Amino acid sequence: MKKLLPTSTAGSLPKPSWLAQPETLWSPWKLQDEGLLEGKYDALRLSLDDQLRAGIDIVSDGEQTRQHFVTTFIEHLNGVDFENRKVVKIRNRYDASVPTVVGEVSRQKPVFVEDAAYLRQLTKQPIKWALPGPMTMIDTLYDNHYKSREKLAWEFAKILNQEARELEAAGVDIIQFDEPAFNVFFDEVNDWGITALERATEGLKCETAVHICYGYGIKANTDWKKTLGSEWRQYEEAFPKLQKSSIDIISLECHNSLVPMDLLELIRGKKVMVGAIDVATNTIETAEEVANTLRKALQFVDADKLYPCTNCGMAPLSRQVATGKLRALNAGAEIIRREIEGL
Ligand SMILES: [Zn+2]
Repeated sequence: MKKLLPTSTAGSLPKPSWLAQPETLWSPWKLQDEGLLEGKYDALRLSLDDQLRAGIDIVSDGEQTRQHFVTTFIEHLNGVDFENRKVVKIRNRYDASVPTVVGEVSRQKPVFVEDAAYLRQLTKQPIKWALPGPMTMIDTLYDNHYKSREKLAWEFAKILNQEARELEAAGVDIIQFDEPAFNVFFDEVNDWGITALERATEGLKCETAVHICYGYGIKANTDWKKTLGSEWRQYEEAFPKLQKSSIDIISLECHNSLVPMDLLELIRGKKVMVGAIDVATNTIETAEEVANTLRKALQFVDADKLYPCTNCGMAPLSRQVATGKLRALNAGAEIIRREIEGL
């Protein structure tokens, strides 16, 4: 992008209340069959419109066609039995009933490629598409087939690569892999997590991003954050290897978090999507608050590599709050653009 400090969101945005119950994760659809297909595309168009009106530069589908950022992708794969469920601890944090891997995993057909092509024809702005990362995928399943987290992650990476190549062909400019698990399983991240992520991006000519965060603003996550002490240094574990990786952009949680900003020095040279919007509160940031976070980040990220963003997805917020936050993000970025350009 030529524009300085191009804004974007981490991914999900709230769905209209006629499509799914608002402010709820895994919210069931309110429409069926043909009506649901049409409703999802209408919602995607509205979500795009909200982003464009708020001045967001790199737009997304707002994840309007998916129920959940990990589960929806897995639902489209062979080898996973959604009836046969087991209770596991997700990201060492909370118990959830999850599907079981019962055989070799494979992709039956493209999952999001038609949706991406639809978004592509609606706008000339750069578009970013989010997929779950391999490590985060395996962490939401019970594996009764491979019996190896690394092996299963590798199989998922190959599947993600097939999907990513087709998304690129459909005109997606940035493909982002969501890896909140990178903030939890540090040894695995360095042993094979980043290698699996690079396998997922193999052969891509578009830009690639990885989003690592402290999760949605749900209770399990906010309770976990309270146990992390006065400084959140989790990023320190994965950053050195990520800095050397082939991934172009790293998307992070920064605003209102206890992440020491100087950790960004560890990924110097990468483009950084700096989270300047807190998704765990309904309070809408002021433009100056956003600008403050961006100013702090600019000490460690070169201006031409800084991409103002949200800390995480905004699916669990109300549409009104999310739209207010999008506007604040753009207004805060504009303050810094003027400062840099000396206007
Ligand atoms: Zn996130």
